[in-house]
Amino acid sequence: MENNNSFKEEKKEWGKEVYTLLSWFKTEKVKNAKVLVVGTGALGNEVLKNLALFGVGNIFIVDFDTIEYSNLTRSILFRESDADKGLFKAEVATNRIKEINPTINVQYIIGKLATDVGLALYRSMDVIVGCLDGNLARLQLNRICMRAGKPWVDGGIFNLSGTAKVFIPGVNCYECELPEKAKKAIFNTFPCGGYARKNEESGRVPTTPVIASIIGAIQAQETMKLIHQEELDNGVFSSLCGNWFSYDGLHLSAKLYKSDAFDEYCASHEYWNPVVKFATLSADSTVSETFEIIKMQLKIEKLVINLRNDKFIDKIVTRPDNKRYFPKLPESKIPDYVENTPELFVKFQKDVEQNEIENITDKFPYPELTLREIGIPYFDILQVTTENGYIYAELSADEIRYFS
Ligand SMILES: [Zn+2]
Repeated sequence: MENNNSFKEEKKEWGKEVYTLLSWFKTEKVKNAKVLVVGTGALGNEVLKNLALFGVGNIFIVDFDTIEYSNLTRSILFRESDADKGLFKAEVATNRIKEINPTINVQYIIGKLATDVGLALYRSMDVIVGCLDGNLARLQLNRICMRAGKPWVDGGIFNLSGTAKVFIPGVNCYECELPEKAKKAIFNTFPCGGYARKNEESGRVPTTPVIASIIGAIQAQETMKLIHQEELDNGVFSSLCGNWFSYDGLHLSAKLYKSDAFDEYCASHEYWNPVVKFATLSADSTVSETFEIIKMQLKIEKLVINLRNDKFIDKIVTRPDNKRYFPKLPESKIPDYVENTPELFVKFQKDVEQNEIENITDKFPYPELTLREIGIPYFDILQVTTENGYIYAELSADEIRYFS
């Protein structure tokens, strides 16, 4: 029996024989690394498979979508039976990469990157990997990574071609790289938050499993380099950061282009600091509890919570009939609300007004709502205006959900 167990223990030292041959590979660093992957489409599948094979010890997966039959041709982690059952991509991907490597911790969040994942979770990561198929989502992730002060690895694929990029706050920025025209096009195509965003996120892009493998592999490799910061500093290898990688599969060429735009006036360069931990504050706290806790710990009289990702919508009025609806929901949940309110769904394309609340003061009319109900995810960081300036309040009671 004992022999049997020790054999298993040996087996559990993932990749020991192979990876010790790589002079730069530091098993402990990789085992302790925390990587969050947003998007489990074709690219996400490849990135996750590779991170599991490397033995990255703590992987977080974010995706809001379910598996469809059309995903199966490009997704190594998904099976037909998953599509039959309409299972969530994030959950299935989690289980499959745990099968590949049972020694790693994998957790998932079914939701959207900007409104369902707390900033403190992003801030706890070593690297964030974007496997996204829309530029609006890239803009959002870029802003979040700037606030968290964390590097992110971007991948994009189309047809037989693709790109990979690495963004590090203070060095380069996705938004700064976008020509003004392209930026305007993103916002003009998706002018008002929720409804359009939902359509964009479900957009389909023609890709192949081969280009997903190529670009996903580069993303995973750049992630491994960022985990080995000391080796990067010592020149054992160089990061892609500062350049971007472009692969043209149609005519087979690969090139590096400069990627070092960092404009000091860019609105995205907000680093949320200092972060103050509030041990008893959770997204399940009510608004009035939150005010009390923050006032008491900071010994202040007045504060305003700024909703920076998701506005709160308490009222919708349709025109010209002046009918009122009271969703009392974050803006990101309005598309579902509209879809489930048939009479509103017909009118929503026409003339509607919604009452948006962006700043929560102590006059907020719904103090009994929880932070979750007004659109704040677990383990988030609140931007709070006080009489002494901004502070960033971490919902530290939620940490236990992800790290125990
Ligand atoms: Zn920028």
